[in-house]
Amino acid sequence: MKKQLELLWELQKIDLSLKNIKEQRDRFPKEMKMLDEKENIEKERIQKEREKIELLEKERKQRESRLNLEQEKIKRAEGRMSEVKTNKEYQAMLSEIDTIKEANSRIEEEILPVMDEIDELKKDLSKREKGVGVTVEKIEAERGKLKEKMAYDDKVWNEQMERREVLSKQIESKLFKLYNTLKEKRHGVGVANVKNETCQGCFVHVPPQMFIEVQKNNALIRCPNCNRILYWDGDGKKK
Ligand SMILES: [Zn+2]
Repeated sequence: MKKQLELLWELQKIDLSLKNIKEQRDRFPKEMKMLDEKENIEKERIQKEREKIELLEKERKQRESRLNLEQEKIKRAEGRMSEVKTNKEYQAMLSEIDTIKEANSRIEEEILPVMDEIDELKKDLSKREKGVGVTVEKIEAERGKLKEKMAYDDKVWNEQMERREVLSKQIESKLFKLYNTLKEKRHGVGVANVKNETCQGCFVHVPPQMFIEVQKNNALIRCPNCNRILYWDGDGKKK
């Protein structure tokens, strides 16, 4: 019986580990998706800033081309100066040119803050781009770690499945069936070890006499509370 219980205990540990791996596998796509989302948020934020700069550049260009247009007007007006015949016409033209010049200096004044803003934004952007670069690298590393973990888990999974196959043949079929039934009903735990006179499956005390018997590991003893098969795995001090 002792050997049987030992095999069963090993099986139980393998089953718990397999359960763990399965849970990890189920979480994997979600975790990968979360990383993707994190990366997208960072990239989108940068994209928005780039768009804002583009918009401002467009505005600046529009103002500059307006300015050019007005300067063309001045040139043309100045060209016409030689053709004027009367003083009155001459004065009118001068004042026209002045008006355009005034308008131009207003446009120039308007362009300056836009250029300043563009400069500021570009500085911020390049800082943030560096930051995002670092974050994206970290995310990439996390992805790599997750994939590595998955690959490692696959390896462990296969090894444990093989061992499980061997164990399930070595364990008496009646005991194996009982274990499976208990495992299904009791959240994956069919065999529980006993520590400090307490069943580690349900954390209820076992009677002292039973505890003594369990420590011998040579009889099938079940927890009076949760019905699990009890096993003595040492008190944690030895080994
Ligand atoms: Zn119990």
